[in-house]
Amino acid sequence: MSGQQGYMKALRCRECGQEYPLEARHVCEFDFGPLEVVYDYQAAKEKLTREVVASRPQNMWRYAELLPVAGEPTVGREVGFTPLIKADRLAERLGIRELWIKNDAVNYPTLSFKDRVVSVALSRAREMGFEVVACASTGNLANSVAANAAASGMKAFVFIPHDLEKGKVVNSLIYDANVIGIKGHYDEVNRLCAEIAGKYSWAFVNVNMRPYYAEGSKSQGFEIMEQLGWEIPRHTVVPMASGSLLTKIHKSYQEAVKVGLVEEAEYSVHGAQATGCSPISQAFKEGQDFFKPVKPDTIAKSLAIGTPADGFYALKVFKETGAASDDVSDDEIREGISLLAETEGIFSETAGGVTVGVAKKLIASGAIPADDSAVLCITGNGLKTLDAVENHVGETREIAPSLREFDALLDSDKELTSPTK
Ligand SMILES: *Cc1c(COP(=O)(O)O)cnc(C)c1O
Ligand SMILES: [Zn+2]
Repeated sequence: MSGQQGYMKALRCRECGQEYPLEARHVCEFDFGPLEVVYDYQAAKEKLTREVVASRPQNMWRYAELLPVAGEPTVGREVGFTPLIKADRLAERLGIRELWIKNDAVNYPTLSFKDRVVSVALSRAREMGFEVVACASTGNLANSVAANAAASGMKAFVFIPHDLEKGKVVNSLIYDANVIGIKGHYDEVNRLCAEIAGKYSWAFVNVNMRPYYAEGSKSQGFEIMEQLGWEIPRHTVVPMASGSLLTKIHKSYQEAVKVGLVEEAEYSVHGAQATGCSPISQAFKEGQDFFKPVKPDTIAKSLAIGTPADGFYALKVFKETGAASDDVSDDEIREGISLLAETEGIFSETAGGVTVGVAKKLIASGAIPADDSAVLCITGNGLKTLDAVENHVGETREIAPSLREFDALLDSDKELTSPTK
């Protein structure tokens, strides 16, 4: 990569097209539209061939020409290239011909897809000269900012709703980040962070650094296509909080066509939410172009954003790609988590339960036809949200260390040897 800007050309307003220099700013001065990174696609096309990608290390930076870092990345160099698993047992249970799981529950280093966006935001923040990084988070982002800041010697402030799962809180505190719990829900945390970002010159990964941060999500889409043998999947199901990941997976498919990595093809990018916080899927189901803000009430805390910043653009993606959006209850979320665990041996957090539950609904309704193929994006790890399932799993059978007791247990408890187990 070269120069001050690498393959980036400018920031551009998604509404009016006004261009801005590549600074730490995220909204247009004229219409408050969100800013997005524009690339030199011709230069990227010349450099980024399938052969070049294949020759590089297996991490998200193998697509560096389409990521917004000018020089070499300095944070999160090992992030990404998580497994894409052919999920035949889950496919059978959901009634679809072919199913794949993109498993970011094992992303490095903090077990969620957020390591992708954070490695981009912190690498970019560093090359822009920031020393303090910060974020407004529903949990996973805080974990990733805390860990990656620690590993690169940056100071971190992470702001979270005060009532997050214990696993998410401990996973931020352990890295010695400054963790600030706000007595309010995420939208209030976010509003406060916008004020703080205006006063202190810190790199807020999802406020003033948002145009760079959000681009990191595209790497999940690039990986899916490469792992499918350079093809765009016919259907992709993506969990939505702000809706950013979904819009960026869509963007990755478009960019891959633009730079010649894949053939153009028909595809649909479907959105999944928890019913207790489903402004985007509600708007879709009512045929609206705009969502109505809601107060979140769901066990899927990582997705609990009542005023989703990219909700409007997610709704556009459904329209453009002939996709659908739906939502599932807390019980259906737990069922989805169990189903994925029992069929594929993958323990996802609540967001994964949302994705599996919504995929089940979309297949049953025909929005995803049974004879098609789909990819489900699993975005976070179940070990961080034990609270959500701990009273809903089976029980340990306790016995003395004696063979006689074990024989007696097998005799008395027929469930242990049932053929469906
Ligand atoms: C943040 C997050 C998402 C989606 O976030 P967006 O704001 O829609 O990009 C999905 N799953 C998990 C586990 C998350 O932490
Ligand atoms: Zn504008």
